[in-house]
Amino acid sequence: MGRLDGKTAVITGAAQGIGALMAKAMADEGAKVLVTDVQDTAGAVQAITDAGGTAQGMKVDVTSNDDLKAMVEKARAMGGLDIMVNNASIFATITPKPFFEIDEDEFDLILRVNTRGVHQVMKAIVPTMIEAGGGKVVNIASGTFYYGPPGLSHYTASKAGVIALTRCHARELGDKNIQVNAIAPGLTESEGVKGNPGFDMGRGPTVASRSIKREMLPEDLLGTLLYLASSDSNFVTGQTLNVDGGKVNV
Ligand code: NAD
Repeated sequence: MGRLDGKTAVITGAAQGIGALMAKAMADEGAKVLVTDVQDTAGAVQAITDAGGTAQGMKVDVTSNDDLKAMVEKARAMGGLDIMVNNASIFATITPKPFFEIDEDEFDLILRVNTRGVHQVMKAIVPTMIEAGGGKVVNIASGTFYYGPPGLSHYTASKAGVIALTRCHARELGDKNIQVNAIAPGLTESEGVKGNPGFDMGRGPTVASRSIKREMLPEDLLGTLLYLASSDSNFVTGQTLNVDGGKVNV
């Protein structure tokens, strides 16, 4: 018996990396999963079906209301929309740079996708969750909010916005039996991060600043995701859980 048996989960930005692994973890626990991304999701869907899970994929840009409408229709056709994981983000492709070198177009793009995208997804999905009598939302924020790493000011601001939306949406949806929580991961060795030399310099100091002194893997996030997506967390809302190996600022 899986912890998410009978549930339908939708996840954004899940063609690769942390999102693809989270999609598979939810399918392994019995959920039917709609895997979405601006990129092709065939590989992530295949990984789930190869393991005996149920998944479908579709291209969804979280800044397109038309795409989000189609996403909700597809989820409803699959059985509903019990769990929403807002994972899509521009992150692993960022070249870190000082804030005074970030032009306004780049700043706007990061906030449009990472923060406004969550706002747009929530507007699209909430009527279906309310109609069903409740649901679970898990937003993927970032530990950068707490320590302000050099070179990522636009990204850090965008994830601060995600933490803020988590609190506000939880307050507005509490009486609808919809719990909205966030996970703030530390630097995680996703395929995108491993392929970006811009993150190399942060790796050593990040590991040194952790209570648990090792690199963080995408798998380290799965237990917290399943807790927040399942009925185990039914009286928890508006919270941001730091999954970062006990990072302390030094
Ligand atoms: P990633 O960049 O590999 O994955 C992000 C995914 O989002 C990509 O598949 C990308 O195609 C998709 N995406 C980008 N723009 C989109 C759009 N407009 N609409 C839909 N999808 C879009 O990053 P990752 O390392 O796998 O990170 C996953 C999540 O975890 C992100 O929200 C990231 O900000 C967060 N996070 C990552 C780390 C880390 O160190 N890896 C740390 C803290 C938080």
